[in-house]
Parts: sequence; structure tokens; C-alpha cells
Amino acid sequence: MSKSVKARIPQRMCIGCRQMKDKNQLVRVVCQDGVGVVDNNQKAQSRGVYFCKNSDCIRRAVKNKGFCKQYGFVLDEQLVQQLESTFESKD
Ligand SMILES: [Zn+2]
Repeated sequence: MSKSVKARIPQRMCIGCRQMKDKNQLVRVVCQDGVGVVDNNQKAQSRGVYFCKNSDCIRRAVKNKGFCKQYGFVLDEQLVQQLESTFESKD
């Protein structure tokens, strides 16, 4: 029993600040038929991107002009607001 057993949480990179974080601290967006969809359960099979749960990282990604080309969907205002509502409406 000498080994310390840490729960391993998968790490993912936030595409806003490009830092690796625990997956459960990030919000995931998947591309479905060319549209970005917030994946609340992180279970969708589609290709996804991750953001920290703060507006700064999301806004930073919005400013990335190559975003759509790179990830296949547009990070538009509607999606940004949806994302923000997932981490601002807690408690
Ligand atoms: Zn970030």
C-alpha cells in the first residue's frame, strides 16, 4: 500500500490559452455537420475542441482567424454565449 494512487484525469488543451488542463475543468465543443455544438456530457464522438471555463479563453479563440479552417466550424456569437452560459450559471 505504499504506492500513491492518484485518480488520473485526462488532460486536454484549451485552444484559447493553449494550456493543458484536467478535462473536467474544460468545456468541450464538437463539430457536427459544420456547426459547433456545446458537448455538455463530453460524450459526442465528433472531433472536439476544449476551452477553459472562462470568457477570456473563448474570446481569444474567437479572434483566431484560422479557427474555422482549423476546426471546421465558426465560433460565432451564439455559440460563445452558449458556452458562457455553461459556466456562468452555476449555483
Ligand atoms: Zn484557456
